Amino acid sequence: MDSTTVSLVQTTFKIVTSAEDGPAQLTRDIFANLFAASPETRELFPASMDVSRQRLLQAIGYVVDKLDTPRRILPFLEQLGRDHRKYGVKDAHYTAVGNAVLDALQSFTGNQIWTVEVDEAWRQTIALISATMMGAANSESRPSTWTGTVVEHKQVLRDVAVVRLQLDQPMEYGAGQYVSVSVPGRPRMWRYLSPAIPSNPQGQIEFHVRQVSGGWVSPAIVGQTSPGDKWSISAPLGALGVDRTDDRDMVMIASGTGIAPLRAQLMEMAMRGSNPRVHLFVAGTYPCDLYDIETLWQLSMTNPWLTVVPVSEEAENPWWHTEPVPESPPGMHQRLIGKVGQVVSGFGTWADRDIQIVGSTSMVQTTKFRLLAAGTPAECIRYDPPS
Ligand SMILES: Cc1cc2nc3c(=O)[nH]c(=O)nc-3n(C[C@H](O)[C@H](O)[C@H](O)COP(=O)(O)OP(=O)(O)OC[C@H]3O[C@@H](n4cnc5c(N)ncnc54)[C@H](O)[C@@H]3O)c2cc1C
Repeated sequence: MDSTTVSLVQTTFKIVTSAEDGPAQLTRDIFANLFAASPETRELFPASMDVSRQRLLQAIGYVVDKLDTPRRILPFLEQLGRDHRKYGVKDAHYTAVGNAVLDALQSFTGNQIWTVEVDEAWRQTIALISATMMGAANSESRPSTWTGTVVEHKQVLRDVAVVRLQLDQPMEYGAGQYVSVSVPGRPRMWRYLSPAIPSNPQGQIEFHVRQVSGGWVSPAIVGQTSPGDKWSISAPLGALGVDRTDDRDMVMIASGTGIAPLRAQLMEMAMRGSNPRVHLFVAGTYPCDLYDIETLWQLSMTNPWLTVVPVSEEAENPWWHTEPVPESPPGMHQRLIGKVGQVVSGFGTWADRDIQIVGSTSMVQTTKFRLLAAGTPAECIRYDPPS
C-alpha cells in the first residue's frame, strides 16, 4: 500500500475518532448499516453490543495505525480471521461488514472530506483486511470450537475460581497461549482466558478466573458455574510461550490470575531435560491473592532452575480473610512487599533475560514502564496481546 493511501486512511480515521462522540457514532452506524443490510448477522452478536463495538473500533484503529507496517498487521489480521470462525462468520459477512464500514465513514465525514481518492484508499484497506482475514480463516484446518464440560469448579478466593473442564477432543496449544470461551447464561459473549495447564492428549483443561466487578462474564463464571455445564472454547491464539530455540534465561512476572499462562509454561518446562534459569515474580495486592503459591513452591523444589519470588503490595491480609498466610518453605524466597514493577526492577535491568508480563492491562503497562525506566531494553519485554 503506497504512502498516499496510508496517509488518506489515517487522516480520515483521525478526523472521525477525534470528533466529539465520533467513535461511538461510528460504531453505532457500522452495526446499524450491517444489521439493516444483512439482518441475519445480528444473531452472530450478543444481546449487549458494548464490547463488540469497542473491539471493532480497537481492531480498525490498530490496523489503520500500523497500515504502513505489513509485518505487524498481517499476522494480526490472520489471527483475527482464524478467531472469527468461532462466531460462525462466512465469507459473505466480510463483504457486508466492509460495506457497512465504508457507508458509516462516508456519511460521518461528508462529501467535503470523502473524496474519490479517500473512497479508493478506504476500499483498498477494507479489501486488504477482508482478504487477509478470509484467507487465514479458510486455510485453518483445526476445529473452530471445542466443547468443554465442567468437571470441577473451585472458588479459591472470594473473587477467583479455578475451573477444570474435559474437552470433547484434545486441543493442541502452546503453553502460554490463550483461547476464547463462551459460557452458558452469557451466550455469544466470548472472553479470552489462558489455560493454566499444558495441552494434553486427555483433553483436560483448566482456567483461573477473576471476577471483574461490573463485568458480564467473569462474575457468571466465578459465581454460577456447576459441573456438567458446557462451554464453547475457540482455537488457541497468542505468541507468549517459551521459545525452545532461545536459551536465554527468563523472568516471568504475574499478577493475580495472570499466573495461569506462566504456570502452564513452567509445568511444560518441568517435563523437559534442561531449561534456562527462570525467575518467577508472582504478585497480588494481599498475601492471600497468591492463591497458587504452594503449587509454585512445589514446582520450584523439584526444578532447581526455577526461583519463585512472592510479592504483595500489603504485608497483611484484609481483615475479612481469616485463613493464615502460608509460610515460605525452607530454601524458598521470602515474600517481598511492594508494587511488583518496583520490586522486579529493584533487582537490576534483567537486560540479558527474556521477560514476560501477565496481568491486567494497567499492571502490564505500569510494570513495563518501571522496567524501561530502570534501563531494561524494550525488546526483552513480551506480553499478550502486544500493543
Ligand atoms: C490475552 C488475554 C488473556 C486473558 N486471560 C484471563 C485469565 O486467564 N483469567 C481471567 O480471569 N481473565 C483473563 N483475561 C481477561 C478476560 O478476558 C475478561 O476481560 C475479564 O474476565 C472480564 O470480562 P467480563 O465479561 O467480566 O467484563 P466485561 O463485561 O468485558 O467488562 C466490564 C468492565 O470491566 C472492565 N474490565 C474488563 N477486564 C478487566 C480487568 N481484567 N481488570 C479490570 N477491569 C476490567 C471493562 O473495561 C469494563 O469496563 C484475559 C484477557 C486477555 C486479553
